[in-house]
Amino acid sequence: MPIEVSQLEDGSKLTGFHETWHDKGGRSDIADALLAYERGAFTPLRTAGSTGIQPGAFWSHFALRNSTNQPAKLHIEYVDHQLLGLQVYSRALSNAGSYRKLANLSIYAPFDTRQVEHNRFVFEIIVPAKITQELLVKFDSGELGVVFPSMRIWSPQKLQQNSKGEISLIAFLFGGYFLMALFAFVGAITVKENILYLYSLYCASKILVWGTVLGYTHQYLVSGGFHWGYTTISGAIAILTGLIFARIFLETRRYTPRLDYLLQVMMANSAFLLVCVLLGLKSASQISMTVALLCYPLVVPIALVRWRQGNSAAAVFAIGWATLVLGLLVQAMRDLGFVVHNPVNYYWPPVASFVEMMAIMAAIGLMVQRLRTQKDQAEKKYLQQLEVSKTDLEHLIQLRTRELQAAKVRAEIEARTDPLTGIYNRRSFFEEAALLIKLAQRKQIPLGVLMLDIDHFKSINDIHGHLIGDQALCATARVIAQHVREVDVFGRIGGEEFALLVSADVAGTVCIAQRVHRDIAKIVIKSAQGPVSFTASIGVACLQGHKDILELLQQADSALYQAKRTGRNRILEFSTAGAVPDAL
Ligand code: GH3
Ligand code: MG
Ligand code: MG
Repeated sequence: MPIEVSQLEDGSKLTGFHETWHDKGGRSDIADALLAYERGAFTPLRTAGSTGIQPGAFWSHFALRNSTNQPAKLHIEYVDHQLLGLQVYSRALSNAGSYRKLANLSIYAPFDTRQVEHNRFVFEIIVPAKITQELLVKFDSGELGVVFPSMRIWSPQKLQQNSKGEISLIAFLFGGYFLMALFAFVGAITVKENILYLYSLYCASKILVWGTVLGYTHQYLVSGGFHWGYTTISGAIAILTGLIFARIFLETRRYTPRLDYLLQVMMANSAFLLVCVLLGLKSASQISMTVALLCYPLVVPIALVRWRQGNSAAAVFAIGWATLVLGLLVQAMRDLGFVVHNPVNYYWPPVASFVEMMAIMAAIGLMVQRLRTQKDQAEKKYLQQLEVSKTDLEHLIQLRTRELQAAKVRAEIEARTDPLTGIYNRRSFFEEAALLIKLAQRKQIPLGVLMLDIDHFKSINDIHGHLIGDQALCATARVIAQHVREVDVFGRIGGEEFALLVSADVAGTVCIAQRVHRDIAKIVIKSAQGPVSFTASIGVACLQGHKDILELLQQADSALYQAKRTGRNRILEFSTAGAVPDAL
């Protein structure tokens, strides 16, 4: 049945697929097609619109009848972008003459050889008034074999109007991709977030792939001639960029090493695809592209695994990727002939891609928010730890300061003390004694000094041992200390020599000397050889006039020397240099 046409066609009529013939070799010409037609090989297409994957060429036969009084100039538009060539032959039905070639469109021909400038194949036909025009159209899709043998019928004006609408949608989509790429790139520079560079690249790859797939690259960029590899290269780049982005964004290497391995295999396949196209290996690249597209949906479960691991941005990413997978699924259903080809499912995949990019942008936002929260928490924890360590440090410093002060005090005491007896050592005895003498001279207080030396001490050491000698020294110091008042100065100034400075007059000093002398003689130390007792000699001197400490002690020492010389175990006073009756 011829299709009624007029000059007002608006694209709603289709040339239909009631009479189609599959030329498996794809090399048929019009004569072969006519023979096939005559033997009744043209049959209705049994699928919803596409021939499905059937390599070769398809022919379609239809007739256009113009019943009006005006000739109808028509633009017949092939509905899809995936076609290598379109040959059109026509004849007027009335004279049943031979077919004339009306158009020969090829993807490989320069774009400007096209009769009608359009990103898809469009040919022009003028159906004269009251005439039925019979057409035979050859669709050549090469090895792919996906053909939609039904074309839309337009008046040139209506097709142009429709194209404007399509261009608006494409401008919106591509402008969106472009802006997303640009913003991500600027953002990447500003916030130094590498994932934004990758996102920017991924957006740019979308412009490349959809621009090429939909025919705009051919129309505007490489209009001189086209190559099958351009579409595959752009597809491979988009897939590879997408997989690299997914891998980095989902941090699979760190959190899901096994799934990361899968992503790496997919990436290797898309890299292999690129190499195949560059080397012109068509069959290998077709296999690789099929593998790439079949594996593409696997990114969704990988993202969901990451979501289950607690990465909420991965869920949004999964939604984005699933949207694109759904778009590609719709495309596959349409190409395989399960779904009728229409403008909605034609633009569904690029729109899905657009939605995917927006969802991924949202996912990046969530990721950045998560990172910021993590950073804030880390900073807070760091500050808390800093505060704790500061307090700890302060405590430690206080502790150390106290320890140092105590050590200093201990060191001072040790420097001043004789380690064996615990009384002043020689140096501090002299220091303290000098101070007391000055005070006594200023205040006119009487002072006396006792120099005491244990008699025959060496023999104690020799007979009873050094340890007993030490005990004797300690006992002597203890005994003398009993007679020492707070103002007095007492010290060990030599091995078994003691000095005592007392604030007393001559009689008082002699009295103290007598008591000390008596008490020392009472000391008994137990030793293995039996009890040990000993005596001491004491020299006494008193402060008169402006004697200094050395002079005073010298006098006492001289009295002590006298005491030793005159038999020991006695007290001698310097002034008299005579023996003082022993108190014993
Ligand atoms: P003299 O009656 O003439 O004072 O005789 P001496 O033996 O007491 O005097 P000498 O100066 O000959 O000997 C003093 C001894 O004191 C010699 C030394 O070994 C001993 N000595 C010095 N310091 C210490 C000490 O800290 N511990 C002990 N056990 N012996 C000491
Ligand atoms: Mg001595
Ligand atoms: Mg002695």
